[in-house]
Amino acid sequence: MSDYRIDTKCIHEGYRPGNGEPRVMPIVQSTTFRYESSEAMGRLFDLQDSGFFYTRLANPTLDVVEKKIAALEGGVGALLTSSGQAASLLSVLNICHAGGHVVSSSAIYGGTFNLFYKTMAEMGISCTFVNPDCTEEELNAAFQENTRCVFAETLSNPSLVVTDLEMFAKAAHAHGVPLIVDNTFPTPVNCRPFAFGADIVTHSTTKYMDGHAVQVGGCIVDSGNFNWANGKFPMLTEPDESYHGVVYTEQFGRAAYITKARTHLMRDLGAQASPMNAFLLNLGLETLALRMERHCANAQKVAEYLESNEKISWIDYPGLPSSKYYEMAKKYMPNGTCGVISFGVKGGREAATRFMDSLQLASVVTHVADLRTCVLHPAGTTHRQMTEEQLREAGVSPDMIRMSVGIENPADILADIEQALAKV
Ligand code: PLP
Repeated sequence: MSDYRIDTKCIHEGYRPGNGEPRVMPIVQSTTFRYESSEAMGRLFDLQDSGFFYTRLANPTLDVVEKKIAALEGGVGALLTSSGQAASLLSVLNICHAGGHVVSSSAIYGGTFNLFYKTMAEMGISCTFVNPDCTEEELNAAFQENTRCVFAETLSNPSLVVTDLEMFAKAAHAHGVPLIVDNTFPTPVNCRPFAFGADIVTHSTTKYMDGHAVQVGGCIVDSGNFNWANGKFPMLTEPDESYHGVVYTEQFGRAAYITKARTHLMRDLGAQASPMNAFLLNLGLETLALRMERHCANAQKVAEYLESNEKISWIDYPGLPSSKYYEMAKKYMPNGTCGVISFGVKGGREAATRFMDSLQLASVVTHVADLRTCVLHPAGTTHRQMTEEQLREAGVSPDMIRMSVGIENPADILADIEQALAKV
């Protein structure tokens, strides 16, 4: 189906019903699958044959959605996970063990920051955070002999930093390691990081991909482009004793990384998505392209309105020419970025709270990228655990409001903002 455009792929990729089969992808709500003989099942366990045998490892409903997301990103394979957090964790653990090191942009989601800063450190994996606006030399200086990957967000949550993907990919490759990019905010509709040198993409599918706030999920996508055979990744190029000596790069070629993530990490850690959630996610994916267009158009209108309002102290939206990431956004996301805007209200934290509490259409929720307009105070919620210095590094100021502009009529969203600002 590779010739179709992305909006058509959002609807049709992954599932082509045969004669008399259901038009809508069915939910295969079964943990297990029947085989004629134990010999046939044994071949599946040995990775000699492919097929479904236990939903922790693979399931026909998950398979459809994985194929769809892999096609949208332009990868060789994908793996759904139980959350975006699980996707971030597994994407690194698949190639970086205790004693390893990660170079990460400091402008990342607070949960991912905690994962790298605390939990992975406790597991023996260290991390050096780099300012996303660093120079090439500063980025190169962060690498160590034991570095096994670089991590960044295409468009960071909530600071809306646009990462220079080509510069990050170049530095990663110069040190023989892959670039992992969390592409949650722009989605593949607005940015395809593989085209700019990223090797692995992760998603919190909880966000725009779902879009209706009905399931928590994640996904890892493998570009199939990274050459693992440079001596740094024995877990992919040497026999895996727990699978009768399979060598992933030899048996699975370009799909070595994503196959290992499934057969090894899902087998042992079990952070799999459920068939029901995959079904709900697929409904969201079907309208993703349509929704992203409207999210971006609405956010642009709101950003322009806020920028010209005297009660607003500052605003960051990469779609505004005043944004320092405007040019970078045009390069990496020429059709638009996403619906999220960050800004401050004059009067600091207190004024921000009054504004948020006065909104009537938009709601205060711990969520983003929903079709309903919503707001959040990152310093007091998602990034609450961070120190002042860490907040600064992540680009989160105490007065920051993160507004996720939905797909309601833009006049209604603007009227709501106007009446709330009048109360500040
Ligand atoms: N990555 C980004 C950019 C996010 O915004 C989030 C959550 O907000 C995550 C990862 C974690 O995803 P989840 O909440 O699905 O675990």
